[in-house]
Amino acid sequence: MNLAVIGTGYVGLVTGTCFAETGNNVICVDIDVNKVERLRKGEITIFEPGLETLFERNSRQGRLKFTTDIKEAVDSAQIIFLALPTPPGGDGSADLSYIMGVAKQLSHLITEYKVIIDKSTVPVGTAEKVHAIIAENVSDTLFDVVSNPEFLREGVAVEDFLKPDRVVIGTDSERARKLMKQLYEPFVRQGNPIYFMDERSAEMTKYAANSYLATRISFMNEIANLCEKVGANVDMVRMGMGSDSRIGKRFLFPGIGYGGSCFPKDVQALARTAADTGYDFRILNAVMGINDKQRYILADKIKAYFGDDLSGRTIGIWGLAFKPNTDDIREAPALYIIETLLAAGATIKAFDPEAMDNIKKYFGDRIQLCQDQYEALINADALAIITEWSVFRTPSFQVMKELMKHDVIFDGRNLYDLEAIADHGFLYHSIGRETVGNKPA
Ligand code: NAD
Repeated sequence: MNLAVIGTGYVGLVTGTCFAETGNNVICVDIDVNKVERLRKGEITIFEPGLETLFERNSRQGRLKFTTDIKEAVDSAQIIFLALPTPPGGDGSADLSYIMGVAKQLSHLITEYKVIIDKSTVPVGTAEKVHAIIAENVSDTLFDVVSNPEFLREGVAVEDFLKPDRVVIGTDSERARKLMKQLYEPFVRQGNPIYFMDERSAEMTKYAANSYLATRISFMNEIANLCEKVGANVDMVRMGMGSDSRIGKRFLFPGIGYGGSCFPKDVQALARTAADTGYDFRILNAVMGINDKQRYILADKIKAYFGDDLSGRTIGIWGLAFKPNTDDIREAPALYIIETLLAAGATIKAFDPEAMDNIKKYFGDRIQLCQDQYEALINADALAIITEWSVFRTPSFQVMKELMKHDVIFDGRNLYDLEAIADHGFLYHSIGRETVGNKPA
């Protein structure tokens, strides 16, 4: 099949590459000339495990192409994915200007039957709006608009795309339904379902899924905070809870708040959708409040220990991406924590295995970027662990102690066993567990 993907960011590039991998011809469009130039030269623009091999193979074999010319892409494709940004607008609702702008362009380009697929996360009713804009200039026998929300997780995006737990497709058109089934069948050969539904339910499914996951994280963060107050260990509580088959083990890890380009904006947008209908979605309002607070909890702990004035203090930071295995720093807790520490006068030395280029663009020379995790500890008064990259799980505690001025760790991800870390001689603060070790002299 001939496909176009409009918007070649995290979702668009993974979508385009994975559809090329199953034999389709894909042309990806972006307005970012520099990005398209790099992709054309064979240079991958995001870090995502497994993507580069597929990108390289499909580009080389001519099934995956890149352009800034939307007309060229639309002319060559029957199936057109929209993988455009839907950032939060001023009132928290999703900003649909990218989607509507492209819908307008499409309304001048469609001359034969096309399926337009919303892969972006968009509020309920968007497929109808896109349909209405295109229908201003195109007969509605010449196109269908389908809602096909994307559930991939950054860090495991290729795996998620190639073997999705489910595919959700919202359409009332039989013609579009057949094409979508044909397109997605190679990805669900093991029997995972393709759910066909109406557009509104498909749009709602995506927000419901993300908001539920954000709620689950926030619930555990509240449990963790309470554990600290009552002297319980949240890791034990998590395991005890998670082995209940009604609850399940995944997504119960407490930490320093959810981040990334999706959860914060999607929870906000769903709450906004509810408010617009006059419905007060109280649980979501609570989740947003909890998360706003949790993002600062590590900085609060650091200030509680050293005092509010951190001038003269150096804090080493491990991990900047919003989660491991990605270079994405959008809404990363690291941004909030580092800003707070800088405002209190601290010097920051930071390391992340993949997010250094992005963080450099964000902080410039306000923080020191280090070559590796140990350089970030030279003369540090404390280490703050923000992202749970595997490489931080079994470091050389001996080397750490030699480099650090004070052997104090603030761990936002509970990477270490309490007994073991105390035996290594660190004072160790974590989330939802007692602080262990001796205060350094
Ligand atoms: P992104 O910002 O990484 O990519 C969007 C791309 O669209 C950018 O490269 C941008 O230059 C391009 N673009 C903007 N305007 C354009 C235009 N007029 N024509 C062509 N290209 C244009 O965003 P993303 O993370 O890929 O997210 C895209 C959508 O998918 C959002 O709605 C998001 O909520 C949703 N989503 C994201 C994820 C994720 O993990 N990132 C997962 C599921 C769903």
